[in-house]
Amino acid sequence: MGRPHLLFVPYPAQGHVMPIMELAHNLVDLGFKITVANPESTHNRLVASTSNNVDEEDHIHMVAIPDGIETGKDIHEDVEKLYDAMEILMPRHLEDQIRKINESNNSDDRITCIITDEHMGWVFVVAKKMSIRGVAFWPASAVQLALKLRIPKLIEDGIITSEDGTVTKHQLIHLSPTVPAMSTAHFMWQCMATSAFQQKTIFELLVRNNRRINLADYLICNSFYELEPTTFSLVPNMKPLGPFFGSGRLAQFWPEDLTCLSWLDQQPPRSVIYVAFGSLTVFDKRQIEELALGLELSGQPFLWVVRPDLIDGGTDVFPDGFEARVASRGRMICWAPQREVLVHPSIACFLSHCGWNSIMEGLSVGVPFLCWPFFYDQPLNKAYICDVWKIGIGFNQDESGIISREEIQTKIVALLANAEIKGNALKLKEIAMKNVSREGASSKNFEEFVQWLKI
Ligand code: UDP
Repeated sequence: MGRPHLLFVPYPAQGHVMPIMELAHNLVDLGFKITVANPESTHNRLVASTSNNVDEEDHIHMVAIPDGIETGKDIHEDVEKLYDAMEILMPRHLEDQIRKINESNNSDDRITCIITDEHMGWVFVVAKKMSIRGVAFWPASAVQLALKLRIPKLIEDGIITSEDGTVTKHQLIHLSPTVPAMSTAHFMWQCMATSAFQQKTIFELLVRNNRRINLADYLICNSFYELEPTTFSLVPNMKPLGPFFGSGRLAQFWPEDLTCLSWLDQQPPRSVIYVAFGSLTVFDKRQIEELALGLELSGQPFLWVVRPDLIDGGTDVFPDGFEARVASRGRMICWAPQREVLVHPSIACFLSHCGWNSIMEGLSVGVPFLCWPFFYDQPLNKAYICDVWKIGIGFNQDESGIISREEIQTKIVALLANAEIKGNALKLKEIAMKNVSREGASSKNFEEFVQWLKI
């Protein structure tokens, strides 16, 4: 019998591609044959950001599924088009791709299982049609899936409308007594949409996927039981395999600036503030200036990821003279090798937007957090960090809605002096590491999953 051949179909956003590719690399290391099929615009972007020859280096075969999106265009600018393509254009092309692979003369080549993101429910429809087993990967906290699956109940209780999920009664939701309260204002379909039409499109996709997740044969996520203890009883069939470790090769939307690692080598141990806001957050000019001046005021060394699209309008990012004034201890880069940065001994803390992957990566290495959440799951993730796990602190906005430079300076100083938070971060790291050690719960789940993939 040949090697099992797994087809990965990631959802085209950085925070989704990264963890699923880490999983793919881990499975390659265990001898699985892997093909990754990305929507074409994402495929082109990933390949362009990877410096070395793609196939030679990775033993992962990358293919593109036509998606009708212009290369170089961010899919989030045109989600309606993407979601349309996910229903009509892409299923057809994915089926063709699978058929082509399966009809090759090499018996080793037949696809034995498809692993896709929960957001890609259409892939399970293709898998079922072709009698191939399907795995759903959930890329955020377990509690976010529990909330999404709660949509019918939210409608029944009159909290949201059934048409487009508009909140009719703003309130705090308690999914269980130990889950921090979450605000209806942060419901994903409301806060990610830029228009009423887009909100309806996103909401309909979530509702569709709530049905289609039942077509999956296996459900996995990047978390671990102790992190969200009571939540897994709300989604009992979900198996946490985290925290994920693995290679981020072929998963980067921007080329990594590796020179920051030798810069980190020159900084004192546990001194550098790592500042990064993931792949989607956007700042206005006034707020970015306050952040720059707050970092300057802190007097600490800092490494700051300033994505080319981090600022809303304008390229003139920093306050006058800022770069010259901080040149000896501040470094700004477009995109970091985040995992390598976080594990570097000179890192003192992580100033983060609280995206789920960033949290998992930070807590796995025991760094404390300065929390600057924006939308979607980030405010709830922040509540876990500050109030449940107690491994970080947050910022307060002033009356004008700005986080001031003084607030930034004060919180940096406070966090770096807080031995209790640093101790908690190290304890949580130990729990995380135990999960992925030989007898750990995540390791056992992973082992069972691997056996299932081999059947
Ligand atoms: N990331 C990176 N380099 C950077 C910033 C982020 O490699 O300079 C990676 C980070 O390691 C994480 C992903 O991008 O895996 C961002 O995912 P997250 O869930 O934290 O945030 P999102 O982008 O989804 O808001």
